[in-house]
Amino acid sequence: MEFPAYRARRLRRTETLRRMVRETRLSVDQLVLPLFVVPGSGVVRPVQSMPGVAQMSVDATVEECRRACDAGLPAVILFGIPEHKDATGSHAYRDDGVIPQAVRAIKQALPQLVVITDVCLCEYTDHGHCGVLADGEVDNDATIDLLAKEALAHARAGADLVAPSDMMDGRVNAIREALDEEGFDQVAIMAYAAKFASAFYGPFRDAAESTPQFGDRRGYQMDPPNANEALREVELDINEGADIVMVKPAMPYLDIVWRVKESFGYPVAAYQVSGEYALIKAAGQQGWVDEERAMMEALLAIRRAGADLILTYFAKAAAALLR
Ligand SMILES: [Zn+2]
Repeated sequence: MEFPAYRARRLRRTETLRRMVRETRLSVDQLVLPLFVVPGSGVVRPVQSMPGVAQMSVDATVEECRRACDAGLPAVILFGIPEHKDATGSHAYRDDGVIPQAVRAIKQALPQLVVITDVCLCEYTDHGHCGVLADGEVDNDATIDLLAKEALAHARAGADLVAPSDMMDGRVNAIREALDEEGFDQVAIMAYAAKFASAFYGPFRDAAESTPQFGDRRGYQMDPPNANEALREVELDINEGADIVMVKPAMPYLDIVWRVKESFGYPVAAYQVSGEYALIKAAGQQGWVDEERAMMEALLAIRRAGADLILTYFAKAAAALLR
């Protein structure tokens, strides 16, 4: 059909018409709220570079999870900041660590809430890298054994999903085997499958206190220009037993989200990271963009690219608008 028989504007005329022909929909069911858990009690410590986000002790985290549930959110993902950091990140895999404590408390108070735990060592190591070091580099094979121990500690506490974010080779397989051996064959793995070495992680490192003390993470996270390699990474993780594959960050990598969904048809998660959040927040506070509209447009774009789930610091604010 051609103009003038076809006039695309006919269906854009009113909000009701637009509502009827919308191709992509965003729902609270697709949003996951990230939370930062710290030791202590009664602690709510705002993260300066992420307005509206705070580190919280276990008790405050449970209250935040209650608010997430009340907002209709299905899931949270937990990041832990331990009391003590050392070279091997030993507090990451203790059964009495801050994350197992939080998982137990949340599952007891809110059994219906899906609890996902981030599995990595960078918050727990004194050098801030995502694994243990050998000769100044992250030792892949020694690291994956520790990641498997960390995932097990989370599963024992009652985590529904574990989410390895380290980008070591072979870690999904190691975690799947360790879980199955202890009878946790129903604990799912959400793999950070294509995680890029991104400048957009800046504010997160304040929140997770995980800035590397030397060097950077380019030796294990992906090089931003590489898309075919991202598909190989995703395929590896699927073959090793990942149930959900994640692309991180989200908006600068929508092409990757799209290709992953098209290529594999697996559940795809996209992480709208701290820098993406901070940019919208900061411009909103300056009055340079309409924060609410920019937030919803960004989340919708991530959905339109093919993401089934979105991890976002906007989860509660978006849920309030969607209900
Ligand atoms: Zn890490």
